[in-house]
Amino acid sequence: LEDGNIEATNNRRERELREMVEAKTRRLQRANSLLVELSYVDALTAVPNRRRFDELLSEEWKRAVRGATPLGLVLIDIDAFKAYNDHYGHGQGDVCLTKVAVALAAGLQRPADIVARFGGEEFAVLLPETDIAAATLMGERLREQIAALRIPHAPKQQYEHVTISGGCAAVLPGESLKPLDLLEAADRNLYAAKSAGRNR
Ligand code: GH3
Ligand code: MG
Ligand code: MG
Repeated sequence: LEDGNIEATNNRRERELREMVEAKTRRLQRANSLLVELSYVDALTAVPNRRRFDELLSEEWKRAVRGATPLGLVLIDIDAFKAYNDHYGHGQGDVCLTKVAVALAAGLQRPADIVARFGGEEFAVLLPETDIAAATLMGERLREQIAALRIPHAPKQQYEHVTISGGCAAVLPGESLKPLDLLEAADRNLYAAKSAGRNR
């Protein structure tokens, strides 16, 4: 080969190598962002998981502080779900959980509203720019939405169909309060809803 040919061949090889590395890098980046997305999603119900909820709560908290707007939260727990599992089996329990998650997601009204799987048979609905009156309306709306599914509960339960209880809370985030305070307030109200007879 003459000198000119060697140079041309080397240039071509270099370009091919660079293109190969670039293509592989793009594939890796796509795989990586898919992994990040998956790490945010609950594998059973496909709604955001607890890890994502904690991040969103912290983000929305900061946004609410900046905008001086209220932040609402509804904590939801399926009533007597242990009995449902015991009667129909864990597999059917999973199906029920998924139906509830889908119905809750469908019941949201604003693009910024978020439902996440908080844990086990519990869901958290985060409502930016929402005060306690509106958060309570939303909780009631979601309760109706689940009752309307008319999923038969296990025999001899308090309610014939699967129901949820919810605890609503809202705050005007500020210096003296933390996201945990909002969570605890909603949790106290959820406990009160359970004590008062569930399905409320
Ligand atoms: P309460 O009305 O007081 O909430 O009663 P409960 O039976 O719903 O509450 P408890 O905490 O006794 O039981 C919760 C049940 O939820 C028990 C557990 O097996 C079930 N559970 C939690 N996570 C899952 C899940 O991913 N799949 C299924 N099938 N069941 C689950
Ligand atoms: Mg529970
Ligand atoms: Mg429960």
